[in-house]
Amino acid sequence: MANQLKGAVNQLNKVAQIMGLTCDELEILRRPDRVLEVSLPVLMDNGRMKVFTGYRVQYNNIRGPYKGGIRFHPRVNLDEVKALAFWMTIKCAVADIPYGGGKGGIAVNPKILSRGELERLTRAYTRGFADFIGPKTDIPAPDVGTTPQIMAWLMDEYSHINGENIPAVVTGKPVEVGGSLGRETATGLGGFYVLEQVLSKMKMAKSKTSVAVQGFGNVGMNFALIAYRAGYKIVAVSDSRGGIYNASGLNLAEVLAHKQATGSVVDFNKAKNITNEKLLELPVEVVVPAALENVISEQNAGRIKAKIILELANGPTMESAEAKLNKKGVLVVPDVLANGGGVIASYFEWVQNIRQYYWDQDKVEARLKEKIVAAFEKVWQTMEAGGNREMRNAAYIVAVERLVKALRTRGI
Ligand code: GLU
Repeated sequence: MANQLKGAVNQLNKVAQIMGLTCDELEILRRPDRVLEVSLPVLMDNGRMKVFTGYRVQYNNIRGPYKGGIRFHPRVNLDEVKALAFWMTIKCAVADIPYGGGKGGIAVNPKILSRGELERLTRAYTRGFADFIGPKTDIPAPDVGTTPQIMAWLMDEYSHINGENIPAVVTGKPVEVGGSLGRETATGLGGFYVLEQVLSKMKMAKSKTSVAVQGFGNVGMNFALIAYRAGYKIVAVSDSRGGIYNASGLNLAEVLAHKQATGSVVDFNKAKNITNEKLLELPVEVVVPAALENVISEQNAGRIKAKIILELANGPTMESAEAKLNKKGVLVVPDVLANGGGVIASYFEWVQNIRQYYWDQDKVEARLKEKIVAAFEKVWQTMEAGGNREMRNAAYIVAVERLVKALRTRGI
């Protein structure tokens, strides 16, 4: 896990070289604007106090306020949060929405906290960063291990501190308290729109496209359901306990019911159990890593049989794996494009909060499609124009051009 930011910045350097770009502005993009760490004392149900560490990294705000989720996961560390904040900067620039990038987190397993402990931890986090976040400065959202309910507590605490209702301080809220229709499914839906574009460019028929999805959280589950309903053959899915595989395709409605009843997808009676590692190596057209980072490494890259990797997690492919995959002709559709649907819908939520005028779900989804398809086209054209098959490079070129232009125009 060590030094993920270095890997992320290497990508920036690689792209700068391709672009023939040497400028002082690049130096600004190589490091975060501000790194914050706070101690969060929380009263636990057993009557004792526990002190957690909360992070918020404000990477860059040249194109707009810092924007990015908060992650609750045992493996969260400052280096990871910095890398995630950097990726948000690139992602918002690729999507061409008026935001910079940020990210936050707490090293905690939210699954073992009671509801009360989770609420007190979230409120402590909000108080810890109340001077630094805000609708015009830094707007958090959900990420791995955080939910709409957690965003509602954050909004409530921040509103109490400021003496007025401020829904635009955070996105990904429940609809009852200013969330947007369509936000919850937006990352999965955006990924689906991107996949449809890729298939049309590659002239592949969806009826002949089998898909394996790693991760059955908000992103993986919604993506799998949407793709299944659209006629794709979903042959494997997994969650943190393991995966299931049926070469003739899974009935996703039944898998979902099984997951709701048992807490996991494993032991589904119409499939065989497989590991999360084996899922990535299945003979399918599309592999969708939709859980955590660094799951595709130099070790397993050679065993991947898919033609397309659709990165719905952040950072699932390690830098060392990328060259191997490219050599094999695997198209890696990068996270900063493929999972941008979430933050695009967050942008719509924020606009609706500020205007206090709410859209119906069709409007949210139509605009999401418009935005993400435009981003895809721009990246694809950049890739073809450069005669280079790496889509990640193309996405970074699009982002870096926009960021450097904004930096130059504003001045330092
Ligand atoms: N956590 C999500 C991401 O990594 C969403 C961020 C947001 O909506 O601000 O893209």
